[in-house]
Amino acid sequence: MEQTPAPVWVIADQIDCRVLSVTFQLIGQARKLADELQTSVEAVLLGDNIHDQPQELIAAGADRVYLGNAPELSFYHPALYTELIVRLARERQPAIMLLGSTSMGRELAPQVAARLKTGLTAHCIDLVLGENQVLEQRIPAYGGLLSIICPEKRPQMATIASGVFPRPAMNADRTGEVVQLKIPDDVAPRIETLEVVREESEGVPLESAPVVVAGGAGAGDPAGWQQIDDLARLLNAALGCTRPAVDEGWSDLETMIGQSGKMVSPECYIGVGLSGELQHMVGIVGAQIMVAVNIDEKSPVFEQVDFGIVDDCREFIPVLIEKIKEYKERQVTC
Ligand SMILES: Cc1cc2nc3c(=O)[nH]c(=O)nc-3n(C[C@H](O)[C@H](O)[C@H](O)COP(=O)(O)OP(=O)(O)OC[C@H]3O[C@@H](n4cnc5c(N)ncnc54)[C@H](O)[C@@H]3O)c2cc1C
Repeated sequence: MEQTPAPVWVIADQIDCRVLSVTFQLIGQARKLADELQTSVEAVLLGDNIHDQPQELIAAGADRVYLGNAPELSFYHPALYTELIVRLARERQPAIMLLGSTSMGRELAPQVAARLKTGLTAHCIDLVLGENQVLEQRIPAYGGLLSIICPEKRPQMATIASGVFPRPAMNADRTGEVVQLKIPDDVAPRIETLEVVREESEGVPLESAPVVVAGGAGAGDPAGWQQIDDLARLLNAALGCTRPAVDEGWSDLETMIGQSGKMVSPECYIGVGLSGELQHMVGIVGAQIMVAVNIDEKSPVFEQVDFGIVDDCREFIPVLIEKIKEYKERQVTC
């Protein structure tokens, strides 16, 4: 009897029963890989009160959706989610397992990988099939792109941020199978969700902002950072940052742009006091106009932007703010 090739899996992310965009993007990429491997795409969706969402995943390219639909699965639960996915993976033996680099994916993926005794590549920016159809999981490193492979263990696991792959076109006529999962009753959850407090994000969301101002280590201190923040507010732009700005406590992780942060595609990106390291720059996908302010005229960032300003940002930004204010006042009085 001919054996069906191992499927490509996507672990779906949902909040309040709304499947996140990154899941659809991953289904699109899984479809491409599965077509090359001549296999199927299978999604695992866990939640409560799930109705039309499996059909949405099928419309995006999934052939089969494993659905865990129960009050216990309403919110991401590490032990329960891991257990369900591990048991199902042992049974179905997927070749590839993709998760979003979301709060859930970042925590769930290593737990599942450890239980399945396989490898995991975090924050991939590309996935292609290489020699012997082994998955090349690409990440930026050492000033270039590095392909990580997991040639022996299965599944080959990767996390990918939202915005890395395009969202596929939906085909409402696609058909697929929905398989109901039984909640294991031998898992004793050690964590109980008592309340969910939603953080209200301030200002313009980074991922959809037409203008992004990003600050880096060159800001120097909280006062220097405040100037960059003021510039972003004045331009009604979203404020992003590099890793050192998070490490210094000037900004939080949610605003970091790059390989391990958010992907942005603004009409205009202004990078202030940052060096243009690949891990940051891969997060700026499809920006139309890019501007950098850096004190060092030899900074590699200048090779990657359309307009470069060689200056101390601590002196330049306050002047720029004044000029923008003057310009805005003139517009009002005209
Ligand atoms: C696995 C991995 C994942 C990573 N993921 C990310 C990620 O997602 N996002 C990210 O950002 N980083 C990431 N990093 C870190 C990344 O490699 C860089 O270290 C980081 O992006 C550098 O930040 P920076 O440009 O602000 O700092 P630096 O590289 O230190 O550059 C500071 C720049 O500021 C300039 N400067 C100094 N003073 C002034 C001044 N007064 N006025 C103007 N310019 C000035 C300097 O000339 C310099 O070019 C990752 C690293 C690893 C290993």
